[in-house]
Amino acid sequence: MRIILLGPPGAGKGTQAKTLAKSLKLPHISTGDILRQNVAQSSALGKKAKDYMDKGLLVPDELVTQMMESRIAQPDAKNGFILDGYPRNIGQAQALDGLLKELNLNIDIVFNLGASEPVIIQRLSGRLTCGGCSANYHITNMPPKKDMLCDNCRGKLYQRTDDKKETIKKRLEVYAQESAALISYYEQKQKLQEICADQAQEIVLKEMLEAASVKR
Ligand code: AMP
Repeated sequence: MRIILLGPPGAGKGTQAKTLAKSLKLPHISTGDILRQNVAQSSALGKKAKDYMDKGLLVPDELVTQMMESRIAQPDAKNGFILDGYPRNIGQAQALDGLLKELNLNIDIVFNLGASEPVIIQRLSGRLTCGGCSANYHITNMPPKKDMLCDNCRGKLYQRTDDKKETIKKRLEVYAQESAALISYYEQKQKLQEICADQAQEIVLKEMLEAASVKR
């Protein structure tokens, strides 16, 4: 099964994608995580991407699409995947369709996780991310058991540079510019499923699993 999660930054795509991937035994592919790993390793891609990411802007399509092409060709993605953070605009959606067409594959469902702005700002400004395994925590909603250490891998938690208030605003602006066209692209293809992500995490997951089981 091939699933895309759409939604503004802070809608909980990363957290939901991880649990959905576990439940469906599929890899969770997050372009943001892959890019952050590249930045941390100072790879050629990371060096090109860093500036855009720090400003809350999109990394150029051709870099991200190339990165996705090699990721979805890996053996663990053979039976499907959960995409989180890709595609971000129509150009990327068309590029993804092209990559899948070559492999004779299709997207099955696109979940659009909607969240209200105050919820988004509260989630992002308190978010803590693990430098080891990319797990997400929240200063008040979901604190780690030990101060600033990941419960799973004991990695150090940090605040993403793009989770600062000014950059959050820029990221929301970028999302608003690109998302309407992307949503109607998948609506026209009858792939879109709306999910209210202001709800509790378990309810959002349950709704997605129900929709996925209908498609199976
Ligand atoms: P995310 O973790 O999905 O919030 O992404 C963090 C940052 O990585 C974004 O603000 C962009 O700078 C970059 N990024 C992630 N995915 C993409 C994408 N599909 N296209 C372009 N830039 C991306």
